[in-house]
Amino acid sequence: MVQKERVAGEALRLPLRRDRHKAGDPADLPASSEDDQRKIYISNSAEKSSADVIICGAGIAGISAAYHLAVKQRMKRVVLVDERPPLSLTSDKSTECYRNLWPGPGNAMVGLMNRSIEILEELARESSNIFHLNRRGYVYVTADPKRISHFERFVKETSELGAGPVRYHTGQRGDLSYLPHHSTGFDNEPNGVDLILDSKIIQRHFPYLSREILAVIHGRRCGWLSVQQLGMYMLERARENGVRLIAARVENIVVADKKVQAVHLRNGSGTVTISTQQVINAAGPLLKEVGLMIGVDLPVFSELHLKMAFKDPLGAVPRNAPMLIWTDPLVLSWSEEERAMLAESEETRSFLEELPSGVHTRPEGGPDSDILLGLWAYHTPPTEPVFPFSIDPGYPEMVLRGLSTMIPGLKGYVERLPKATVDGGYYTKTRENRPLIGKLPIEGAYVVGALSGFGVMAACGAGELVAAHVAGSKLPHYASAFALERYKDPGYQRLLETWGDSGQL
Ligand SMILES: Cc1cc2nc3c(=O)[nH]c(=O)nc-3n(C[C@H](O)[C@H](O)[C@H](O)COP(=O)(O)OP(=O)(O)OC[C@H]3O[C@@H](n4cnc5c(N)ncnc54)[C@H](O)[C@@H]3O)c2cc1C
Repeated sequence: MVQKERVAGEALRLPLRRDRHKAGDPADLPASSEDDQRKIYISNSAEKSSADVIICGAGIAGISAAYHLAVKQRMKRVVLVDERPPLSLTSDKSTECYRNLWPGPGNAMVGLMNRSIEILEELARESSNIFHLNRRGYVYVTADPKRISHFERFVKETSELGAGPVRYHTGQRGDLSYLPHHSTGFDNEPNGVDLILDSKIIQRHFPYLSREILAVIHGRRCGWLSVQQLGMYMLERARENGVRLIAARVENIVVADKKVQAVHLRNGSGTVTISTQQVINAAGPLLKEVGLMIGVDLPVFSELHLKMAFKDPLGAVPRNAPMLIWTDPLVLSWSEEERAMLAESEETRSFLEELPSGVHTRPEGGPDSDILLGLWAYHTPPTEPVFPFSIDPGYPEMVLRGLSTMIPGLKGYVERLPKATVDGGYYTKTRENRPLIGKLPIEGAYVVGALSGFGVMAACGAGELVAAHVAGSKLPHYASAFALERYKDPGYQRLLETWGDSGQL
């Protein structure tokens, strides 16, 4: 039954993250002792009113930049500014997953993600895995015989780009045996991908998936983590190494002679100008707005992406399942009555037609939890980021209908919809879905953003890269692929005209 009336506010608040803040509460500033700190930071003392680098935005990108500048590049006097609590705008709304499977052209995306995952693994080792990094993998499935050749091309391409070896499982003698993943931890797991083309193997290892499924790609350098814990771990290390966190809004960036000179900050305690010659724009969905403060119109736009969390008391998805992704376009089945209702409105008429691929789910929480996350970008037109944003009340039903094609055990929830928590945020992206990391055409200005739907997995590598630009260190091979300057290259412009798969999920 199509639920038109449900509103987000009625949804049960599941105990996913007690430390979450509602998206879009600017200046939701900390009280008491933190408040005192804020006043100290916003003083005009000579020592406090200049900085070597100011980072605008304490999402996962800005925090990673601060960490790499202070801890790895040993830079002093780094200031991190955010008008909201750290990580609270987009970063803690993510599905928190990572993968090194990315399409070309070129190996820049795979290179960035491999490096980012390498840093994640180093941080997990040194912190006794405080952010619960796992390596369960991404399982992509198709039930369309015509798409099998696409699967074969995709694994070959990503492997050639550096994502690791391909192991084929066709049910023939001589195949390597398929190694299932572990639920926790990240060491001693295979790299690369397993391509399973034998339905017996698929059903043995994934008995909860539809029997219609013909092929499975199990990407193995993939999994998920707690971004809140990762972010707080990096932020604490950064602060121990001298980073100052200021709860304020960056109101303006002063530029003279095409050089950064100072940053104006404002919060409830007043305003202050901090002189600095270097600024990093890590403003997430507000990247464009902050770019315009220095007169640079960044080539980005935003899409609103939602995510639902719901309880799975029927155990339709085992608690040790990997990330599960349906890669075929979907036509949902509706009753006659529902069809008539959907056909009535412009907004819902398209739900009767073929809908985009990519509905996905994963378990959330430990073995005692019964929560699943579900996502489906069935309608994500470009839009201006606004906070707070409104949430499509039909989202949980659409996601459950989509998911139950892949996981028949979820069909039980379609008739009697479970209570769901829906949140989300903006994918702020470039047209080819690659990030912007590096120098801007104002001396001393840098950007780390346009992280679209991959900012959590890319954050460590992206923060390291922007810090290397600021410190003038050697840049990795993928640096030029993410610089704003790439758009000046006529060859790149031609490539954009025929750009294929953007890798977006
Ligand atoms: C539903 C959903 C699912 C996702 N799933 C995944 C996933 O599985 N894996 C993955 O890797 N990525 C995922 N992402 C993408 C990921 O969440 C983002 O790419 C990432 O969080 C972006 O981080 P950020 O630091 O750039 O932005 P944000 O987290 O938005 O941080 C930007 C910060 O800048 C601050 N700011 C902006 N302007 C100013 C100003 N003028 N003054 C002061 N502060 C300012 C804001 O307050 C904000 O805190 C998902 C995103 C969504 C919405």
